[in-house]
Amino acid sequence: MTRVYNFSAGPAVLPQDVLQQAAEEMLDWHGSGMSVMEMSHRGKEFISIYEAAERDFRELLGVPANYKILFLQGGGIGENAIVPLNLVARKSQPAVVDFVNTGSWSSKSIKEAKKYCTVNVAASSEAQKFTVIPPRDSWKLSKDAAYVHICTNETIDGVEFQYTPEIGAETGNAPLVADMSSHILSRAVDVSKYGVIFGGAQKNIGPAGLTLVIARDDLIGHALSICPSAFDWKLVAENHSMYNTPPTYSIYIAGLVFQWLKKQGGVAAMEQRNIAKAALLYDYFDSTDFYSNKIAKDCRSRMNVPFFLRDESLNDIFLAGAKERHLLQLKGHKSVGGMRASIYNAMPVEGVQALVDYLKEFEKKHG
Ligand SMILES: *Cc1c(COP(=O)(O)O)cnc(C)c1O
Repeated sequence: MTRVYNFSAGPAVLPQDVLQQAAEEMLDWHGSGMSVMEMSHRGKEFISIYEAAERDFRELLGVPANYKILFLQGGGIGENAIVPLNLVARKSQPAVVDFVNTGSWSSKSIKEAKKYCTVNVAASSEAQKFTVIPPRDSWKLSKDAAYVHICTNETIDGVEFQYTPEIGAETGNAPLVADMSSHILSRAVDVSKYGVIFGGAQKNIGPAGLTLVIARDDLIGHALSICPSAFDWKLVAENHSMYNTPPTYSIYIAGLVFQWLKKQGGVAAMEQRNIAKAALLYDYFDSTDFYSNKIAKDCRSRMNVPFFLRDESLNDIFLAGAKERHLLQLKGHKSVGGMRASIYNAMPVEGVQALVDYLKEFEKKHG
């Protein structure tokens, strides 16, 4: 068996130890004689898996007691509708929601939210082709927005907030909502500065099918009457994420990833490793003009690193050579082009080093 280095943006690499443990427990979880996939979500075995996952996630990210953690389905794209369906009714209709447009994912959120509210794009970096994040003091926030939406890591464009923006009195202290799908648990976050955080699991947590939502208590219980019951945060919270059948196997794997993260030293230790991994790539790109990364240095993503070859006619040869070395899924998103290396928590530093070694070798041959 050959395990590759998988640089996919998502679904993405998982820790090998987790996959190994899941394989060992596949037919018989802890003497139950069942696979986790076969268990009732209401049985004591699965409840224990769920409670451990919730507890570990709360501990890892430091989620305060006045926030609920919801295990949902529907992905990040689903949340683009579910968030307004749960938050806009706190204001008189039609409510205004402020968005900061920093790339493909915030653009998608804006498009979807327009079905439920009046969208104000408070700032946008579209004119700069999403290579920067508009500085906080340039945002034109509304007076009484239902909330302010940001995407803290743009998976496709490769920009990441390196700080938590303060919203403040300007908007009547509108809650900050963040799509953290592609960097949640990769760095320390002060959850108390956010009203809602959401993320699909398949980038940095576990298998596709699970979506995590962290919502402050006072923001729960305001869903529009048209909100589907399965996505009404109040019903979901009251039923401990079991209003309907949750994605049980995905929750189990996420739970194993949380245990793995704790063994690695938690989020703070992961963050140090992620800084070092990203620096290996960016430092190399900055040292040569054979490759380039076009993102402003102070908002380069530690998770998703887009890059271009100076001579783009070599792209196919580059990808073929990478594949021979078991370095996979490096082709950039079609909307950006070029290459992209996604280096989530579960990508070992050895994988990033193997990529840098290949980049150097390729440059030597073709430069
Ligand atoms: C992947 C991603 C999404 C979409 O997730 P789905 O599970 O496909 O709905 C949303 N936002 C961000 C930032 C992402 O990286």
